[in-house]
Amino acid sequence: MPAPAGVALPHGNAVHDLRQRPLRDLRISVTDRCNFRCSYCMPKDVFDKDHVYLPHGDLLSFEEITRTARLFSQLGVGKLRITGGEPLLRKNLEALIAQLAELQTLDGAPMDLTLTTNGSILARKARALKDAGLKRLTVSLDSLSDPLFRQMNDMDFPVATVLQGIEAAQAVGFANIKVNMVVKRGVNDHEIVAMARHFRGSGVTLRFIEFMDVGATNGWRLEEVLPSDAVLERLQSAFALTPLSATAPGETAVRWGYVGANGQHDPSLGEIGLISSVTHAFCHDCNRARLSTEGKLFLCLFASEGWDLRALLRNGASDSDIRQAIAQVWGQRSDNYSERRSQHPELAQQRQRVEMSYIGG
Ligand code: SAM
Ligand code: SF4
Ligand code: SF4
Repeated sequence: MPAPAGVALPHGNAVHDLRQRPLRDLRISVTDRCNFRCSYCMPKDVFDKDHVYLPHGDLLSFEEITRTARLFSQLGVGKLRITGGEPLLRKNLEALIAQLAELQTLDGAPMDLTLTTNGSILARKARALKDAGLKRLTVSLDSLSDPLFRQMNDMDFPVATVLQGIEAAQAVGFANIKVNMVVKRGVNDHEIVAMARHFRGSGVTLRFIEFMDVGATNGWRLEEVLPSDAVLERLQSAFALTPLSATAPGETAVRWGYVGANGQHDPSLGEIGLISSVTHAFCHDCNRARLSTEGKLFLCLFASEGWDLRALLRNGASDSDIRQAIAQVWGQRSDNYSERRSQHPELAQQRQRVEMSYIGG
């Protein structure tokens, strides 16, 4: 791997990039396959029956993933997010979860271990995931209207099954589940208040995500982005909300709490989150790295190239060599795509980026 030279490895300390951002969060894509065809992510005309997915031998094994995650933890990573593609399609995923649940942070604390899923087979999997040690869950859900949900996943998949998945996860003890709604203007923005009403007071935190120009195939247009400020306005016309402070540095969502009868945030009513990657870029404290399905390290969701960690893993490199390589790559990082796109919207048209389903959302 052609890692840049000359960056000292601060073993035992968190590594920082050129913008002084620490490496805290690792997103691991465990499959590039999915049973949905959300048009903003894997449009059907591109991801059709002729689309070539990675062969199984190219995927990192569970042992390779766990080894890599351990090395990341030694460089300051305290949070692991399993994603994809649809991660629950990876066979026996709970075995990987069990291995990752054993890892610790630099301070000896347990890792924050979480997973993002479309919820389609969550009802079947929730118990095994919980037993394996998964701590938290995010479920993607763009609409409560069955016809619209079927249209948005483009596989005629019913919304009731995803809602049952969320209920099953709550029943086995997952608390503070997050639900992600990608808002596309003119497609599902009329559902914003209904979604909020449905999840208010349910123990689930609903987060509204601006439609992003990830990948090269989703036909993104700025006109289809409903800015988070407009989402908030619509919510405030229906509910009393109060701003809440961030829970962790580098948090992607801006939090608002529902106000109760006493005029203060009422935790029993919960909160919502706004993820404004287009209109309020949050690159300045982005602490996220991504490990693709075939073991490439990506420094930004909008990157076009990654660093081949699998080659090191499979060529006999020592833990120290791999840790050093990761630290060097992160040490040279200066990515801030969303900030640059805010200044130069034409960047969105120059799309040689890898797909989100491959790099991991
Ligand atoms: N399949 C899983 C799921 O849908 O939850 C995990 C992978 S998916 C790529 C991760 C997250 O990325 C989902 O919440 C999805 O809604 C979001 N996402 C995908 N494409 C997006 C886009 N163009 N803009 C904003 N969010 C997007
Ligand atoms: Fe699949 Fe998730 Fe992408 Fe939808 S957003 S196509 S569910 S990977
Ligand atoms: Fe991080 Fe890249 Fe997103 Fe900026 S654009 S927040 S650097 S992933």
